Amino acid sequence: MNIRKFNLTGNVKTLVALFLILFLSLTLLTACGSAESSSKKDKSKKAKKVEDDEEDTAPATKKEAENTNTGNKTADEKKEKTEKVSADALWAELMAGNKRFMAGKHTAANYSASRVALSKGQKPQFIILGCADSRVPPEFIFDRNLGELFVVRDAGNIADEVSLGSIEYAVEHLHAKMIVVLGHESCGAVAAAVSGEKMPTRNLSAIVDSITPAFEGSKDCVLGDKPNMACVELNANHSAKDLLEKSPIIKKAVEEGEVAIVAAVYHFDTGEVVRLKE
Ligand SMILES: [Zn+2]
Repeated sequence: MNIRKFNLTGNVKTLVALFLILFLSLTLLTACGSAESSSKKDKSKKAKKVEDDEEDTAPATKKEAENTNTGNKTADEKKEKTEKVSADALWAELMAGNKRFMAGKHTAANYSASRVALSKGQKPQFIILGCADSRVPPEFIFDRNLGELFVVRDAGNIADEVSLGSIEYAVEHLHAKMIVVLGHESCGAVAAAVSGEKMPTRNLSAIVDSITPAFEGSKDCVLGDKPNMACVELNANHSAKDLLEKSPIIKKAVEEGEVAIVAAVYHFDTGEVVRLKE
């Protein structure tokens, strides 16, 4: 009995051992399979990520390319706009200041700060060829700060050699964009020229002799008649024409679109500056 009992116990133990081996083998196989599957999944995930990354990169590069193209396009458009900065756009800028002047709403400029900031150089956009008349200071009537207007003034806003030389400097070296010839109502120099009277000095004669040709052929402004706005306008247009005819530098700059010329007149009653037709 004891021996049989022993054998029976031994068989049970063997069975248990075999079962355990089988279970462990299965578990191991399943684990390996799972690991392999997991590895495959990881690899697949990684591959997908790379693909996704590549896709992400591709559009990014594409976007960058598009952006670069857009950037170039914008730069080109900007350049074109800059090149096309017309007399109209610059004039509108001046007129904004003139409107402030007319309304009595001057910009509260800090001249001390501007003076110091401008100590290293100037880059005015506008050149004003105006009359020396004390009632027509361009900085006031266009409401501009220091360094914004390159102003050349003489009696009658005449484009003589000295004023032409001054303007050439501002065009050539300061790269100003617009020249405004600014005549004004009740101009004494124009009135003296229209009078046709002989001037008492050679220097005064030089002024009227420069202005008189502006009235040639005009029915609206006749020598010996009373001076009027037509005379002032003719004189402003005449000086504007002289800028082109007497200065190859200014003419070239205008032809190349680097600077624009505008003739205008100032009215005392309203304070308005009116641009003349070319
Ligand atoms: Zn004047």
